[in-house]
Amino acid sequence: MKIIRSSKTSLKFLTEKKRQTLYGVMDEYSCLVNLFIEMFWGNEFAKKDLTKDITNIPHSWLTARMRQCAAREALGMVDGEKTSVQEMDRESVKPHHSGRKMILSAQVVKIENSQSNQFNYWLVLTSIGHKIKINMPIKSHRKMNQFYNWKRSTTVTIHREYVQFSFEKETDKKLTTGKNVGIDVGINHLLATSDQELIGSEVKQQINKIKAKKQGSKKYKTAKKALSYYLHKMVKDYFSQHKNLRLVVVEKLKHLKRGKSKNRGKAFRKTLSNWNYRELLNIIEMRCEENRVSFRSVNPYKTSQTCPTCTHVERENRSGEKFLCLRCGYEEHADLVGAQNILERFLSGQYGAAFKAD
Ligand SMILES: [Zn+2]
Repeated sequence: MKIIRSSKTSLKFLTEKKRQTLYGVMDEYSCLVNLFIEMFWGNEFAKKDLTKDITNIPHSWLTARMRQCAAREALGMVDGEKTSVQEMDRESVKPHHSGRKMILSAQVVKIENSQSNQFNYWLVLTSIGHKIKINMPIKSHRKMNQFYNWKRSTTVTIHREYVQFSFEKETDKKLTTGKNVGIDVGINHLLATSDQELIGSEVKQQINKIKAKKQGSKKYKTAKKALSYYLHKMVKDYFSQHKNLRLVVVEKLKHLKRGKSKNRGKAFRKTLSNWNYRELLNIIEMRCEENRVSFRSVNPYKTSQTCPTCTHVERENRSGEKFLCLRCGYEEHADLVGAQNILERFLSGQYGAAFKAD
């Protein structure tokens, strides 16, 4: 199966003149994307419909190739909004391109090796329109170098301050032997596993650090980065210490409904924000992919109130971090109970049979 990763590289080596030219192209591109959104919004368009006849309609000085990129991005935004409306159960809002990025194909952007010892690559934009050609010097860095044996995608996303490349790799099939583990993610312990492990007890402290800073300030951003680093580090360590895994089961991310606080998901009650929660699950999923471990998620409904031994469900079974079954007396740390139930819910469900021990 294919796995995809991305890496950012700064555009800080651009001369002021090139930067202004680039921004001029980005502004025009953005206008064009918004014109396409007007065309596609409320109409049925698919990728195959983006013929020259269609992409030539809006007025712009950009070339047919650039129009093709803009039309694709517009269609992606319209389709993305449709999907998101269904998933989140909310009113639809016509998307708007802010001009902060361009998703360009190999028809207009090429990567050439640089002969200079100052830079590694030239990112070359051609066939844009107005006979513009921009050569942008790029430096490689440690994260990018990790992908040296991956296949680089020909699509490049250009932002105002940086460029984003994507890399693909084929991995071997998922492992068919090994251990199944359920993971409950939370604020007291980042990861609680069905193998009785509690990992990462500094999450709360890290989140409180963020809360103490003024939103949007430099210190706030630094604290957020530190949390993100912490999430990555804990998950990375977990996987390097557990090489025998075959399956990881987590809670399914619940979508938060806007403006209805009483319906907000478990993540919110735990004060680990929705964003961090999503990021953490993504990190776990990525590590699973890289280690050929299957990744599944289950509905977390009452996983922390259900007794893993006698299946008795009662809210009072749980009190804070403590779980004590009011029917059979089973006692355990509540997060560990959650993890056991998450795994059990998947294994006893319709897709779990394939993973049950032989
Ligand atoms: Zn019980």
